[in-house]
This record gives sequence, structure tokens and C-alpha cells, in this order.
Amino acid sequence: MCLFCKIVNKEINATIELENENFLAFHDINPKAPVHILAIPKLHVDSFNETSAETMAGITEFIQEVAKKVNIDKSGYRVITNIGENGGQEVKHLHFHILGGAKLKWEHFTDADPKDFL
Ligand code: 5GP
Ligand code: ZN
Repeated sequence: MCLFCKIVNKEINATIELENENFLAFHDINPKAPVHILAIPKLHVDSFNETSAETMAGITEFIQEVAKKVNIDKSGYRVITNIGENGGQEVKHLHFHILGGAKLKWEHFTDADPKDFL
């Protein structure tokens, strides 16, 4: 069973922010912003590559609910999902990073030149 499935099954502790029948939101163990929450489907799916439009519809509303609950919906936030090797995905259970609580940097992307990657 994968790490996030164990969190779903409460075999591993996490600070849960919101939960419903299909989705779970918990705080990232190594936060990269004042608010850093991970939203996941309870049913295991490896990544965005394998998910369905139905799951995406459900998690969209769920993420919006999380953002409201932690009061970052008005100030703004960022939603990221890393996919596979080049995307930098470490945990192979679909998850959306919800980052906020401060003005987030965008340096990596503003400075990036496609040639740098060659
Ligand atoms: P990825 O790099 O796969 O997009 O993101 C995985 C995220 O999971 C990382 O931000 C990492 O800090 C977080 N993470 C890894 N292990 C645990 C854990 O056991 N508990 C919690 N709450 N977060 C974790
Ligand atoms: Zn899993």
C-alpha cells in the first residue's frame, strides 16, 4: 500500500484539514509556504495521467472548499500537481499541492529559458 493510501486508512498520522467520502486534504509534512495542503482522492490512482474527468470534477470543488476553510480563497493560492519523473513527482498517488498564505514566488519559471534544460 502506498504512503498516501496509508494516510487515507489512518495507518499513518497526518494533520487532516478536510475530508469527505471521496477526498482527503492534509497538511504537507515539509511545507513550502505558510499554507501547504495536499488534496488527494481516497481511491488510489498513480497520477494525473491516469485520473478521470469525474475525479477531477470532484476534486475541483473539494480544493475550492479547502481554500475557503483555511481562508486563502480571497487572497489567492496556487494548485500544483507533479506528474512522473520530469514533473518531480515523489509520491505515486495523485495529489494536488494547495499553496498560499503569502505572495508566492515564481522565480523558477520567470527566469527559466528552455535552452537551460538542454
Ligand atoms: P510530490 O513531490 O510527489 O509532488 O509531493 C509529495 C509531497 O508529499 C511533498 O511535498 C512531501 O513533503 C509530502 N510528504 C511526503 N511524505 C509525507 C508524509 O508522510 N506526510 C505528509 N503529510 N506529507 C508527506
Ligand atoms: Zn495510494
